Amino acid sequence: MPTVEMERRQVVVIGAGPSGAIAAALLKRQGHDVLIIERQHFPRFSIGESLLAHCLDFVEEAGMLEAVNAAGFQMKNGAAFAWGERYSAFDFGDTFSQGKPTTFQVQRADFDKLLADQAALQGVEIRYGEAIVSADFERALPQLTAQREDGSQYRVEADFVLDASGYGRVLPRLLDLEAPSNFPVRQAVFTHVEDRIVHPGFDRQKILVTTHPEHRDIWFWTIPFSNGRCSVGVVADQTHFAGRLGNLDDCLRGFIAETPSLSGVLKDAVWDTPARTIGGYSANVKTLHGPGFALLGNAAEFLDPVFSSGVTIAMRSASMAAGLLSRQLNGEAVDWQDEFAAPLKRGVDTFRAYVEGWYAGTFQDVIFHADSSPDIRRMISSILAGYAWDPRNPFVSEAKRRLRVLSEICAGDQG
Ligand code: FAD
Repeated sequence: MPTVEMERRQVVVIGAGPSGAIAAALLKRQGHDVLIIERQHFPRFSIGESLLAHCLDFVEEAGMLEAVNAAGFQMKNGAAFAWGERYSAFDFGDTFSQGKPTTFQVQRADFDKLLADQAALQGVEIRYGEAIVSADFERALPQLTAQREDGSQYRVEADFVLDASGYGRVLPRLLDLEAPSNFPVRQAVFTHVEDRIVHPGFDRQKILVTTHPEHRDIWFWTIPFSNGRCSVGVVADQTHFAGRLGNLDDCLRGFIAETPSLSGVLKDAVWDTPARTIGGYSANVKTLHGPGFALLGNAAEFLDPVFSSGVTIAMRSASMAAGLLSRQLNGEAVDWQDEFAAPLKRGVDTFRAYVEGWYAGTFQDVIFHADSSPDIRRMISSILAGYAWDPRNPFVSEAKRRLRVLSEICAGDQG
């Protein structure tokens, strides 16, 4: 039998996306030995292009903010929502929680490569074109098997494994940790266009979220980049796509044609890139950690794209896990449930309440309500900027109750 190479490392991170790059850099900065194993070669396409302000706190913590600021990405200062004639914009500079007032809208191929390169510059070793194909957590130390593109394999033993494999969901699949999401199966169809937008009401510094005129559970994103291009996508329950997915370009443009406020904005767009689709992306797990491992970002849970929370949650999980793991590697006893899973879940559950409210229409009623108080808008703006873990914000600490009461008031005003 051929001998399989064996390597010994302190920490192995699976995947070099935002959660992997941030976690690895933070651990390296604490003096630990870190190896990232990444299946693809960068730059590579990824969806998830509108960032929240809070995610820059983690970019800064990882020593990468200067490079991100200098990269020429589109500045973003808030989020705008449109439904027919109604338009409501939230400004990240006017929020309840004190945080960063701006962030970016990014082509993820470039952004993810920049973060990974920054991690490498800080001393993290990254191996591209190698996939983790099996994992053994029954031994004294976790052991992973990596496969190179030529089919050859080697094993690597580590004190700890961080799974940052995103939709690859490596450890959830290999260790039978997958759990169903509570959300219905939704799908997105999207592309990049040369947008040629001249519409006077269009703000390039905000993501535009547009609700379909008839079906309030169908919505569109328009995310401008700094090069005159936009990311455009439609999201809906899979049932709305029945019979429409044969031609993705026609599907996307057909939904947009049904939505005059958006088709007006995009009337001169050049549709030069074939549309893509992704479906069934909402996912959950039975546990976020176990002996010798923790799950980061999308490898753990993904809610929904509507509030652009994915990268922020991914980076927050990376920051929390890296801090805890560093203490553990230095000999301290740590509690992954109390110090990682439970506090991370609090912010995720805040987003969950607003995602549920969005599709139920209640949060849309609040967003589009003409006379909402500036204080309330500030509290909502904080969450839209990503500060969903700030317990001082009543819309964080009592998300469901506040949303219910407010939507009842808004509905009463409209009646
Ligand atoms: P990823 O970015 O997916 O990175 C995982 C990496 O792991 C990949 O590079 C992959 O190649 C690698 N990998 C996978 N399997 C293996 C393996 N076996 N071995 C080694 N490497 C492996 N988020 C936002 O913040 N803003 C948005 O506007 C937004 N829009 C979205 C729109 C849609 C339709 C969807 C579905 C999601 C959106 N998201 C958005 C969410 C966002 O895409 C993710 O939350 C984010 O990319 C998660 O980052 P990550 O680091 O966890 O994983």
